[in-house]
Amino acid sequence: MLPPVNPQRLADTFVTLCEIDSPSRSEGRLAAHLIALIRDQLQPEAIYEDGSASGTGSDTGNIVVRFGGDAQREPLFFITHLDTVTPCEGVRVRFDGMVFTSAGDTILGADDKAGIAMLLEMMRVLRDAGLPHCPIELVFTTCEEIGLLGAKHLDYQMIRSRMGLALDSAGIDLLVVGAPAANRFQLELRGVAAHAGLHPEQGLSAIKLAGQALADLPLGRLDAESTANLGLINGGTATNIIPDRVVIHGEVRSHSAAKLAAHTESIRLRFQQIVADWQDPTGLVAGHPSFSWHVDPEYPAVHLSSSSPLVARLDLAAQRLNRSLRHTVSGGGSDANILNGYGLATAILGIGMTKVHTTDEFIALNDMVRTTELLLSLVTS
Ligand SMILES: [Zn+2]
Repeated sequence: MLPPVNPQRLADTFVTLCEIDSPSRSEGRLAAHLIALIRDQLQPEAIYEDGSASGTGSDTGNIVVRFGGDAQREPLFFITHLDTVTPCEGVRVRFDGMVFTSAGDTILGADDKAGIAMLLEMMRVLRDAGLPHCPIELVFTTCEEIGLLGAKHLDYQMIRSRMGLALDSAGIDLLVVGAPAANRFQLELRGVAAHAGLHPEQGLSAIKLAGQALADLPLGRLDAESTANLGLINGGTATNIIPDRVVIHGEVRSHSAAKLAAHTESIRLRFQQIVADWQDPTGLVAGHPSFSWHVDPEYPAVHLSSSSPLVARLDLAAQRLNRSLRHTVSGGGSDANILNGYGLATAILGIGMTKVHTTDEFIALNDMVRTTELLLSLVTS
């Protein structure tokens, strides 16, 4: 029988966290608040700040807090992110006794402060009850919302646990065990500029060329495991100049590394082909089209089997509460992708946050209590 979660304390903590502004790259005030609170109330073994700030541009590094525990038990880390999406300046939390919302003019910040509040409540219950638990590490990252920058620059030497949980998804009693890898690319098509009225025969429109390449390019859901999107396109300078440059930014995601590579390459080939096939219709164009291409691996995939030690441990923790976790696969990327890429088995737990990244974001206190119970069961199993 686990000791009870204190809903009032959890709610108060959550509201306090939400009302400390922490947009990406300005997480310092929230980090300082957490460090002081944890040091004063929770007797950590160690608190570290890494040197990631110079890489992320944040006013703080990532924070790792280590708590001792029963050395016979496999250590676990819990990762949450400190930053929130905008609009997030001056959050005022409304609570109707059941559900938290913002006053309507900002996001709430349950993504991801609900996760942080649950971890603090978990540690307080453990402290008050004197319950034996596994060694625990809390990892608070910066800049998750602007490209997982904190996790990408995290000092992985600081983390001793080999497995853990990201508290950063919608849903309740929901475990995300798979997420795609992603590539981000930038391509540039170059034509030939000319006066559109005086010498159109001498020009080669990069916009028209891009249109030919894009007309039948497969995008959206490419197969059961893969998606592609072109999200930004820029080109041209004025209506009287034939545009000599178009820049396109896009992404490909796939749960399969082979398909990720193949789909990315097929987009590149499509543009390469259009450039190669081009023929001068007038014989007067002062040049040829060209094309350049740059791909950045954005993050690796998450693949955790149901029989992996981490997932088995989570299922067991739920069973102790007479619950079962639904396992699911997501289409998004998060800090968990980066951690898995570093060999740290990381599943993502639904924490009940809803309509995140909108000013209608909300979360129910009951769901927060329920998830905190699961965390307690997990670390004491
Ligand atoms: Zn999040």
